[in-house]
Amino acid sequence: MLASSPRIERKKVSSSSKKTSSGRLYLSRYWIGREVAVIEWRDYERILKALRSLADLKFIFEGLLNCKTKGKRMFNVVSRTWNPVTGCLHECTYCWARRLALTKLKNRERYADGFKPKLNKEEFAIRFNEGEFIFVSDMGDLFGYFIPEEWISKVLDYVRKFPRTFFLFLTKNPIRYLEFLDKMPPNAILGATIETNRDEDYLDFSLSRAPLPSERIKAMKELPWPRKFISIEPILDFDLEIFIKDIREISPIMVYIGYDNYNNKLPEPPLQKTLELIKVLRREPMVVVEKTLRPAWYEGLNRYLEGNKGDKAI
Ligand code: SF4
Repeated sequence: MLASSPRIERKKVSSSSKKTSSGRLYLSRYWIGREVAVIEWRDYERILKALRSLADLKFIFEGLLNCKTKGKRMFNVVSRTWNPVTGCLHECTYCWARRLALTKLKNRERYADGFKPKLNKEEFAIRFNEGEFIFVSDMGDLFGYFIPEEWISKVLDYVRKFPRTFFLFLTKNPIRYLEFLDKMPPNAILGATIETNRDEDYLDFSLSRAPLPSERIKAMKELPWPRKFISIEPILDFDLEIFIKDIREISPIMVYIGYDNYNNKLPEPPLQKTLELIKVLRREPMVVVEKTLRPAWYEGLNRYLEGNKGDKAI
């Protein structure tokens, strides 16, 4: 646990009379104004033991998910993707899905209008297996402001038919989850892409038309859902303390962290800073999955310039 961990006090409760069924427990000033639960020390130790085994489980699970051979990840949480709705109007500059739709996939019927949002009716015939982990609409943003309410409801109704499959949603407009909370199946994991805590860089580089990072952070903090997910990918430079606090307050069950894979020269953080973020998040009750980790694009350039400081211009 981190510095904000609660203090634990062990006190023996004694009663002067054997008949007395209630008494007083004196605690130090630290506890004034706080909510306190009194439990027997034996029970506390049992809870602690259970929490430790959960932490061990998280450690093993993270180890498996982050395990790589020959640079490739050996395990993946997501077993497959499902695209009942494709297309997006957020126009992120680094969007690989739009690039794919406009190039390699441009002859597919669903991308005949480019990356315009589209409901793909044929996807509602797909069956899912128990225990599978499905990433919904990785080729679009299902909860974007531009997606009709009926399309989202249709997707959620279909998800409801597979109560033993997990469905991972990811959006840059998480405030829209609120509209559908009463219809949301319990096997839904509600995710948001939050690449940074900073709005400035986002605006300065005109990175996207999506709601600003601060708006997404606020929406995720206020989202009353037990299974939340954060994708910090592609990671952008951030304020370490503030970002950690934000993520803690969102309280996701899982966080993905990774650098841009497509050489977009984004305002990235130095690798050391990202590693520090990962180190701190690892101590939190959430699973941290490392995606692409590498030095920021300018770090290599800096090293090159350092090495050529003595060179004369011709
Ligand atoms: S929100 Fe996602 S799908 Fe939409 S443009 Fe941005 S990266 Fe692409």
